[in-house]
Amino acid sequence: MTEAAHSSLVHAFDSQRGRHILVPDGSRIYDLASELALEVDTAVSAGEDAVARLLERYGLASSPYIDDVPLQDPPIRALSLAVAQKCNLGCAYCYAQGGDFGGVPRNMSWPIARAAIERLIDAAEPGQRVNLAFLGGEPLVNRALVRDATAFAADQAKARDIRVGFSITTNGTLLSAEDASFFEEYGFAVTVSLDGVGDTHDRLRPFRGGDGSYARIMARVKPLLDRQQRMQVSARVTVTPLNIQLQDMLDEFVATGFHSVGFSPMLSAPMGRLELNQPDLMTMLEEMIGCARKFESETVAGRRYPFSNMTEALRQIHRGIHRPYSCGAGAGYFGVSAEGGLFACHRFVDDENGRLGDVKDGLQRDKRNAWLAERHVHRQEPCSKCWARYLCGGGCHHEVIYRGRPACDFIRGWLHHCLITYVNVMEQRPDFFSAERS
Ligand code: SF4
Ligand code: SF4
Repeated sequence: MTEAAHSSLVHAFDSQRGRHILVPDGSRIYDLASELALEVDTAVSAGEDAVARLLERYGLASSPYIDDVPLQDPPIRALSLAVAQKCNLGCAYCYAQGGDFGGVPRNMSWPIARAAIERLIDAAEPGQRVNLAFLGGEPLVNRALVRDATAFAADQAKARDIRVGFSITTNGTLLSAEDASFFEEYGFAVTVSLDGVGDTHDRLRPFRGGDGSYARIMARVKPLLDRQQRMQVSARVTVTPLNIQLQDMLDEFVATGFHSVGFSPMLSAPMGRLELNQPDLMTMLEEMIGCARKFESETVAGRRYPFSNMTEALRQIHRGIHRPYSCGAGAGYFGVSAEGGLFACHRFVDDENGRLGDVKDGLQRDKRNAWLAERHVHRQEPCSKCWARYLCGGGCHHEVIYRGRPACDFIRGWLHHCLITYVNVMEQRPDFFSAERS
C-alpha cells in the first residue's frame, strides 16, 4: 500500500481510475485531473495554508460542517442490558473480566429491565426507531429475562407507534432451537462471538474448565443460520496476536452462512493480555486489506461477500458521514448494569469513569453533558489534525481512556483502503447500494 501525501484539510488516494481527494470537512470525494494532482501534492508539501488557499481557489472551501459545539441532552435511542453479569466461558482477554465486570456474578432483575425499557420508549416520539440490545457476560444465562424484556418492549413500542429493533451478542454455547424461533419472530440481529475456526477459537474462548467450545457453538448456531429471514446472524471476531490470519477465517464463516462477518482489534484488555502491539496491527492491516481485495473481486463479479468492516465503511462513505464522535456512547446509547446503573456503553458497565446515571432517576445531566463536551473529536489530540477525524470520530472512548491511541496508523491505513475500494466498486458496480438493499 502506498499512502499518498496528506494534510488535515485534504487526503489524496489512487484508485484504478486515477487520483482522488477526500476533503475531510463534509467527507467529500473528488476526482482529480492529472495537472491538479500535482497541484495538490505541491500544496500539501507547502503546508496547511497552501492547501486552504487551493481549496478556496477551486470552490471547495466551505464553512465547517462540524463546529466545536458538543451535543447537549440528545435523547436515548439505544440501550444494552447486561442481563447476566456472568458467563460460562473463560476467554483470556474478556473486557467483562469473565462476565462479572470484576464484581459478584449476578443477573438483572425484572424491575430493572422494565424501568430501562420504559425509559427507552418514553424518550422516543411516534414513528421513531429505538434499539434494545442484550449483552453480558453471556445474556442467555438469563434467557427468561431476555424473553420477557423483548415481549414487553415490543408491546410498549407498538402501543406508542415506535419501531423497536432487537439485538443480542452471545457466545453461542447456550443457543437452542427455541431461541431460533424466538429471535426469528422478533427479527433479532444475533451476533455470535467466534475467534477463529476449530482449535484457534478453542484456544481463545474455552469453557471455564478448559474444554474447547467451537464444535458446540457451531452445532447450536446451525439452526439459526438455517432460519434467517427476519433474523440476521453475524459472526464477530476479536483479533489478538493468536488469531491474526483473517482471510481464510473470513472465507470459512461466509461459506458457513453468516449474514455478515466482522473483525475488531483487541486494543485494551484487563491486565493487557493479548492486546495487539504495533507490528501486530500492521499485520492485521495487511490481512484486512487482503479481505478487502477479496470483497472487491467478489462484489464486482456480482457475488455477495458480507465482510462487514468493509460494507459498513462503504455505506458510511457513500452517505458522506462526518461525525464529531466515534460512536453513540453517552449520547444516544447507554449500557445498563444488572443493578440499573446507566453507563456510557456496554464496555463501561460498572466503571465509575463511565457512570452517567441510573434507570430509576435518569441521567445526571451535567455529568453526561460534560462527557459529551470532553469527547468531541475537536477536543481530542492528535485527532483535530488528522485527515480521518470525521470518518473515525476519534476512536473508541473506552480504548482511548485505557490505552490511548495506539491504532491510528491502522485506522488511517484501513480508511485509506476503504476509500480506494469505494471508488473502484462505484466504478464497476454503480448499482451496489441499491442491489444490497433489495
Ligand atoms: S483516533 Fe487516530 S485515526 Fe482516529 S481521528 Fe484520532 S488521530 Fe485520527
Ligand atoms: S466507547 Fe467503544 S465500546 Fe463503547 S460503544 Fe463506543 S466504540 Fe463501542
